[in-house]
Order: sequence, then C-alpha cells, then structure tokens
Amino acid sequence: MASIAIDGPAGAGKSTIAKAVAKKLDYIYVDTGAMYRAIAHYLVTNHIDIEDEKALAEACNQVTVEIQYEKGQQQVYLNGENVTPYLRTEETGNMASKSSAKAPVRAALLDLQRNMAKQYNVVMDGRDIGTNVLPEAEVKIYLTASSKERANRRYKELIEKGEQPDFDKIEADIIERDKRDMNRAIAPLKQAEDAVLIDSSDMSIDEVVDKILSVAQTVL
Ligand code: C5P
Repeated sequence: MASIAIDGPAGAGKSTIAKAVAKKLDYIYVDTGAMYRAIAHYLVTNHIDIEDEKALAEACNQVTVEIQYEKGQQQVYLNGENVTPYLRTEETGNMASKSSAKAPVRAALLDLQRNMAKQYNVVMDGRDIGTNVLPEAEVKIYLTASSKERANRRYKELIEKGEQPDFDKIEADIIERDKRDMNRAIAPLKQAEDAVLIDSSDMSIDEVVDKILSVAQTVL
C-alpha cells in the first residue's frame, strides 16, 4: 500500500487538495482532523474537563471512533453513532485544537490511522502524518499559506454561508490555533525533513493538486 501524507496549519486547504489528489489517484482520503473533532464532540457533549487527567483518560477509554465511506465520503462514527454532521462547528474545532494536545486523545487515534494506511492506498491529511503517524509515507507534503490568506479564505466561506464574520477575529483565531498546534509537547505540527513544502498563498487549487501529483509521479 502507498501513502501520501499532507500536513499543514489550519485553513491551508489540505482537505480540498487531499480529496482532489485522492480522486485522481483512486486512493482513499483520510481526514484525521475529523477524528480529533469526533473526540472533541464527545468531550463537549459530556462536559468533560480536559485538564482533569483522570476524567479525560476515562473518557478516552470509553470512546470508539470508526471510519466508513458512504458514496465516497468519509463518515465518522463515535460509539456507533454517525457524528459527521456535528464536526465542523467552531466550538468543536476549538475543543479539538485543545484536546488534541493531550496524550490519551492522541493515543486513542494513532492505531486507527496507521491501520487505515495498512489496508488502503491513502491520502491522509493532518498535522503529524509525515512526522509521526506514517513516517514511511512515500510522499510527504507540507502545505501552508500566510495567515492573512488563510483568514481570507475562511472569511469568504462564511460570507457565502450568509454570515457576517469579523476578519481580524478569524485571523487571530488562526494564529492562536497555529501556535497551539506547533508548540505542543506531543506530535507538534512541523514540516518533516523529507516533506516537500508548498506555499499555496498565490496558487490555485488546481496548481497545488498538479504539483502534488507531479511529486507523487516521481516516487509511486
Ligand atoms: O484539520 P482540522 O481543523 O479538522 O483539525 C482539528 C484539530 O485537530 C486541529 O486544530 C489540530 O489541533 C488537531 N489535529 C491534530 N493532528 C492531526 C489532525 C488534527 O492534532 N493529525
């Protein structure tokens, strides 16, 4: 089985790009952020204090996260319930960004992610795929963009949804999330030594996809 690991900060376009690359190559797209969001959803709905080590460890023992594909789309099941529709909210994202720094949360997901890469050809996106989850991945990409550009993309998304977002707040949230992801003790976000760096600030989606496919062609 072959793996393409795509890591990078929030809002760099990883999921859009990873999905498109997976489709072109007929690989399975694995969104690991959604797995962290599923655990975060459990922690929020069960009012777990993540600073309470015992409560967090117990909660992590009680959750099972499973991935299924329905009509080609990844669905995340938490203790048997499909929680996919609840995962993209700001509240869940904020909790995921904090709870993902905790050891029991990361331990609960590592085997699931590695097993998927054993069973299928995958394009897996996240923060620590190339550095920690799949250090032997054939292709590693570190996809980033300036915080201004990432905030701009998010701003436009929210405008299209009919919301009235505050640009400065969006950018401040992105910078704070980057800081948390890059500075945590376990599996921090960083570029793997053998990853190809792509800064998508001034690139279209198609240009980034083509660049990754050309990198993949040389090794797969
Ligand atoms: O990518 P997404 O925004 O869905 O990820 C939610 C959160 O999960 C991130 O803010 C990050 O802290 C965490 N995450 C992680 N490791 C991964 C994927 C996501 O720590 N491999």
